[in-house]
Amino acid sequence: MICLDCANEGVEAVAVALRQSCYAGVCAKHAVVTDRLVTRIVPITKVVALPKPARQITCRVCWDALNQLRAAS
Ligand SMILES: [Zn+2]
Ligand SMILES: [Zn+2]
Repeated sequence: MICLDCANEGVEAVAVALRQSCYAGVCAKHAVVTDRLVTRIVPITKVVALPKPARQITCRVCWDALNQLRAAS
């Protein structure tokens, strides 16, 4: 698989990860690696984060889209 963002720039780079929600292949340059909090629900419907975060791979497009949510709140 090749990187979608590189392909859009006319470059062929091997994808090192598959973006979880948009399924775009991304190379190391275009991948954004962040922590994803692992949560559990405790009574009554309160969400708490567990101590160890999971790894999350995001492409630049999705990273920018997720950050607009944070910027708006
Ligand atoms: Zn790339
Ligand atoms: Zn994406």
